[in-house]
Amino acid sequence: MNLAVTPGRRIMGRLAKGADLLAALEQVAREQGITLGEVKAIGAVSQARIGYYHQAERQYYFLDLAQPLEIASLMGNISVKDGHPMVHAHVTLSDAQGRAFGGHLAEGTIVFACEYLIQEYQAAAALVRGLDEPTGLFLWPDK
Ligand code: ZN
Repeated sequence: MNLAVTPGRRIMGRLAKGADLLAALEQVAREQGITLGEVKAIGAVSQARIGYYHQAERQYYFLDLAQPLEIASLMGNISVKDGHPMVHAHVTLSDAQGRAFGGHLAEGTIVFACEYLIQEYQAAAALVRGLDEPTGLFLWPDK
């Protein structure tokens, strides 16, 4: 399936030091009533937790990075899961040597500093996540 979207508000801001990166982005979406949108951010984290979905085992494995890292790139989207806005984001995090780690942003990633941009979208229908049997993931409908 696909959905034609039109741009709504653009919201820029920063997250508090010590906040959980994923939860804080979701909180902004909920406070602003954004149920469909796009998220971008840069900054730094004091520690990180990123996921890798093992396709054959149909489960996430998490990597805990107990070190300060740059958010070289964060991109994600906002849609609805369980009746609430949900942020799905992937990050590229870089260390002091410029080496990068990347994956599915999980709770447990702690903000040192973060500047974000949220683009709200409007559409004729909501994008709602549900369990997708072929992948085991909570995805948008396929038709
Ligand atoms: Zn993901």
